[in-house]
Amino acid sequence: MEDRSYFHFPPGCESGILISSMRPQVDFLSLYQAFDAPIVAADCGQFCAPHNPNGVPFCCDIHHAVPAVYRAEWKALKASTDLWRLWRGEGSAAEQAAALRADTPSNMTLLVCQGAARCQRPFRSLACRQFPFFPYLTEDYAFIGLAPDADFTTRCWVLQHPGAVTAAYRQEAVAVFDRLFSLWPDEMDSYADRSEELRQACIARRRRIPLLHRSGLNYWLSPASGRLRRADFLNPL
Ligand code: SF4
Ligand code: SF4
Repeated sequence: MEDRSYFHFPPGCESGILISSMRPQVDFLSLYQAFDAPIVAADCGQFCAPHNPNGVPFCCDIHHAVPAVYRAEWKALKASTDLWRLWRGEGSAAEQAAALRADTPSNMTLLVCQGAARCQRPFRSLACRQFPFFPYLTEDYAFIGLAPDADFTTRCWVLQHPGAVTAAYRQEAVAVFDRLFSLWPDEMDSYADRSEELRQACIARRRRIPLLHRSGLNYWLSPASGRLRRADFLNPL
């Protein structure tokens, strides 16, 4: 089954309820304000939507992507906007929906928004903001930059043009995940697992990983050795 969630979850990640009761609170609305820069200097939805038979950006189409949010984040959203509601399997076959739910850790929940035409940008979820990248962690848990959500490589214009990503987006993404990890260090486990999945997939396909390094530079990352080679990703904008 194609993975349509915004996050990949490590198997056996079942301790979310226990963890969430002990965790410091995260002010998600403040995180949102700190992570609001445009990902590219254009509306990238205009580039990908024509390729989606549903006519909307792939990442805003529940048939392609189901946003996963932290339960604490859902609480903040619910109190602030009518943009979101709980996902009830819309856009998925029953079997796919069950698999997606089974893959969702207990400290997160799956939502659906009112759709791209009725988006409320201030209340986009963290998943919306980080898409199509995720924090990349090395084998020794160093958060070195942003890696692509490889499931969307063929659909997402941004992933096909990583050189177009703005410096502001990168800086804000890194700062926000630094902040999240400092408050909830156990969240690094999910991203460490996801990074490992990406490494293994790229080793199997003999591909390198395009990395938006936290330093502001771009690299090709060799998944087996961890070696970084400077990359010159073109910016078509
Ligand atoms: S991030 Fe990718 S999938 Fe989402 S609107 Fe931009 S190009 Fe389309
Ligand atoms: S909230 Fe906005 S950005 Fe997020 S999925 Fe909905 S339409 Fe897309």
